[in-house]
Amino acid sequence: MKPGGERAHPSKSVSATELLPQKRMPRARVRLLATGCIAFLGFAGVCAQALPERAAHADAGEVDAPAETRQLEIGGATITVNIAAGRFDLPSERLYAWVGRAGRAVSLYYGGFPVVRAEVNVKEAPGRDGVFHGFTFSPDSGVLTTRISVGEHTTEQELADDWMMTHELVHMSFPAMADEHHWIEEGIATYVEPIGRAQDGQIPVESVWQQLVDGLPHGEPEPGDAGLDHTHTWGRTYWGGALFCLMADIGIRRATHNQMGLEDALRGILAAGGSMEKGWTIERAFATGDKATGTKVLTELYEKMKDAPAPVDLEQLWKELGVVPDGRTVTFREDAPLAAIRKAITEPPKARLMPAKP
Ligand SMILES: [Zn+2]
Repeated sequence: MKPGGERAHPSKSVSATELLPQKRMPRARVRLLATGCIAFLGFAGVCAQALPERAAHADAGEVDAPAETRQLEIGGATITVNIAAGRFDLPSERLYAWVGRAGRAVSLYYGGFPVVRAEVNVKEAPGRDGVFHGFTFSPDSGVLTTRISVGEHTTEQELADDWMMTHELVHMSFPAMADEHHWIEEGIATYVEPIGRAQDGQIPVESVWQQLVDGLPHGEPEPGDAGLDHTHTWGRTYWGGALFCLMADIGIRRATHNQMGLEDALRGILAAGGSMEKGWTIERAFATGDKATGTKVLTELYEKMKDAPAPVDLEQLWKELGVVPDGRTVTFREDAPLAAIRKAITEPPKARLMPAKP
């Protein structure tokens, strides 16, 4: 279990604009073909957007030729893992297993891996330990690719605790959005990652809620903030997006007598072809997700949160869900009004696995 407060999500101290160009692509094209989570020293990371030319250039220039390649068959997909030349203290087997765990968590949540083919390029970070510089993009090859750095001295425990590999693979599951909707891409990756890992037994359920209790206050609007489409700070992008996802999950479960949840909406978007390989409007994605659940939850929540600050009373929400913050972890109350919904959110999903969508 990860210690409380070590959720290695980005710190406000580093901004995306310091790291990558923030040029805008022409509206007629898919503007966001790449998204990346860049972490520094294990405590700060920034998901940034990049122009495809930049991504292609970076990919060509910064990734070593693979020394080893293995194809993992996970959730109906073939994930090609390239481990770049370099020395790791751990045997390659442990790195393949780490990518495999991430792929399994994502496949469980989505009922199959989001795309039929994907690539993961693991680069060595000499002299370091931990996982850094996650970056997922759609290269010219058409095969969605995650590029990620692993420290030479990374330990098995660090790989077991790592969230970034799963976060990056979740990015493959949702269509590429225009710049102003980057929050939904990061929000989904932030929200789904721990749930998928808990569903697979990789982390305890308490850890999912503890991360939300710790993280979601960062997603609340600060004075002067506008809606999610307009305030593009770190907090509003990652955790504001995750807050949208949690509210959507609860909303769908309330509207369907707890028979469906956000995962059904997201699976519906994938089933309609909405992976990161495609550029969609946010309205199309939400309408498609709503159709899958027979509700209007995503569309109506978006209307509410896109332009206006729309704060959420988190203290009240934890009470309703029966989540009791308890130092560095949480405990649960089964007599809370939304306890059944809370449990359903992290329950391992229905057994049926859908094939991955091309
Ligand atoms: Zn991300």
